[in-house]
Amino acid sequence: MKFDTKVVRASSKPDKTTGSVVPPIYQTATYVLEEVGKDKGFDYTRAANPSRQLLEEHLATIEGAKYGVCFSSGMSAVDSVLKLLKSGDHVVCSDDVYGGVSRHFNQVLVHYNLEFTYVNSSNPDEVKGAIKSNTKLLWIETPTNPLLKITDLNEMNKIAKDNNILFGVDATFSTPVFLRPLEFGADLVMHSTTKYLSGHNQIIGGSIHTSNKEIFEKMKFIQKTIGAVPSPFDCFLTMLGLRTLHLRMQRHNENALAVAEFLESHSKVSRVAFPGLESDPGHKIAKEQMSGFSGMISFELNGGIPAGKHLMNNVELCFLAESLGAVETMITHPATMTHAEVPSEERYARGLTDGLVRLSVGIEDKEDIISDLSQALDGC
Ligand code: PLP
Repeated sequence: MKFDTKVVRASSKPDKTTGSVVPPIYQTATYVLEEVGKDKGFDYTRAANPSRQLLEEHLATIEGAKYGVCFSSGMSAVDSVLKLLKSGDHVVCSDDVYGGVSRHFNQVLVHYNLEFTYVNSSNPDEVKGAIKSNTKLLWIETPTNPLLKITDLNEMNKIAKDNNILFGVDATFSTPVFLRPLEFGADLVMHSTTKYLSGHNQIIGGSIHTSNKEIFEKMKFIQKTIGAVPSPFDCFLTMLGLRTLHLRMQRHNENALAVAEFLESHSKVSRVAFPGLESDPGHKIAKEQMSGFSGMISFELNGGIPAGKHLMNNVELCFLAESLGAVETMITHPATMTHAEVPSEERYARGLTDGLVRLSVGIEDKEDIISDLSQALDGC
């Protein structure tokens, strides 16, 4: 099957009993055994559930992985990967990872004696320089949230293999439509399925994919032991969204390019980060390793916090909302929203300036998105 066919059909077989095209939702906690020690492959939903299994298999096929393991959120998927490590281990991580990930590392996992070093992973020398004798995991996000920095996965793979460390990629922003990190040698890939994969702002979820049986078995064990599993209904909703992923992503990509070009020529905007723009520092690598640039843009307003607030309060079509990757265009002002709790010095050090705006470009008509931004930018 070609990729687009897999997105639609990977695991879609008519239901055996009724012929139903849409798979049923197995909303059950447990399963009746035929006799002691003899079940039908399922005994308790924390361990396995047919609705979840279908989603795991479907996502794995799209990702080009042998295995998929689904979680109740992107964060519980990240946390489960980190549970592969032991006290005393060290992680090298992209410096612009999603704020919830660095919060988890810095405010929770450090108490379990895990150590983290953040580097600009767009620069392989910085990554090499950060590796220590106890480094066990290289954790890369590409493009990053929110600055959309691009990391060269071939370079990261060389570093990981030379140092015999686990190589994981959070590919939430790129999606398997545009980037499949396992093809670049990553040991595992992670998604917040909350975003593009489900695509309609309908669930919170996460997934891990690998073709390494040992990693898969460990992740499965962690999944059933900790129990951060998505509900059968959430799996069903994710499956419904997933089937149009390829179409949605092409439109996100096309719209984002048009919006990025509009913003780049706007007098109130000093800088636009979108890997699809030739002016973007990540463009060359993104073009080599991705087949599209996705729908996320961040840009800098000349007028700092007042301009950011004005823009947020005056958009009409764009939703002022913290999430991303859904059909509706959503806009966020990190300084007053997602990163309001981060002390300003730390925020500035990470490049999250007062005038930074993050835009998740939806699949509406691009002219409507541009005209909404245009009218709101007028007063900035
Ligand atoms: N990774 C990235 C890149 C994200 O953007 C997010 C959420 O925004 C997460 C992980 C966490 O996912 P969730 O919100 O589904 O827990």
